[in-house]
Amino acid sequence: MNRDLPGNNSENTGVSDGSSNPLFDSLVELIRRTSAEIPDDVRNALVAALESEKKGTIAASALTIIERNIELARQKSQPICQDTGTIIFYVTGPVGQDQVTFEETAREAVRFATKKGYLRQNSVDSITGVNDGTNVGPGAPTIHFHQHRSPTVEVRLILKGGGCENVGAQYSLPIEKLHAMRDLDGCRRVILDAVLQAQGKGCGPGILGVCIGGDRASGYELSKQQFLRRLDDRNPEARLDALEQDVLKTANELGIGPMGFGGRTTLLGVKICAANRVPASYFVSVSYMCWAYRRQGVTLDASQAIAGWLF
Ligand code: SF4
Repeated sequence: MNRDLPGNNSENTGVSDGSSNPLFDSLVELIRRTSAEIPDDVRNALVAALESEKKGTIAASALTIIERNIELARQKSQPICQDTGTIIFYVTGPVGQDQVTFEETAREAVRFATKKGYLRQNSVDSITGVNDGTNVGPGAPTIHFHQHRSPTVEVRLILKGGGCENVGAQYSLPIEKLHAMRDLDGCRRVILDAVLQAQGKGCGPGILGVCIGGDRASGYELSKQQFLRRLDDRNPEARLDALEQDVLKTANELGIGPMGFGGRTTLLGVKICAANRVPASYFVSVSYMCWAYRRQGVTLDASQAIAGWLF
């Protein structure tokens, strides 16, 4: 978890150029690519969506503009969207990994990438509203650390847009007015309700990350982790796989379409997990990702240089 909470005064204030620091260089390159390049699976889904829309419709032209925007950002190595979004690192490393140094380096890498223009200056003090132009502050960036019994270090990064974050929703089942009971049909009803409520807001076509169960905090957190999955993967849990396919198909028959302009592409994907819950609670947490689905990841070698890309 991010340790930069109020009261922690360990913040470095200078912006390093990271010279002779392979981890810093690796993280800056990860940030640059994540901000400027949509992963192939997302791009393929957008191309397929464009092909499925009727030519000459507003939906087709919205998707064409999105496609051009993506290509321009990649060519110019510039941010895909003016909304940097929440910067979320997921780090998986060996037992004993120096998380303090990693976090300090990640914060410096975010500062540097912002100064270089790889990230728009888009993080403000929540009390004063002041933007200090660094994208770094209490709780920003967010870093989740996990350990595994392997020497490998994997770093994944998601830039989670704010507009799409606003249309995420959490449901506490049962909900009578939606006829949503505490079962998978009830889950299906509330997930589709979230899509209906969004009506293309949050820069659709969207991708849903859903967690069935957990508590209010872990449910949302696990729903966001679904965005680390590729769009073209399949859920190994057969019931969740069926629910994912069903919600995707049904949502795309609602006619909401890209940006709510109507059409066949309301969602590009649905990813669902389940977590244990206490018997008293039954939460369904729905996180919504916009078309600017910025997700990349790297493996690092022993010197902490980039050894390979994960997406
Ligand atoms: S929701 Fe996504 S596409 Fe919309 S402004 Fe934010 S990052 Fe950009």
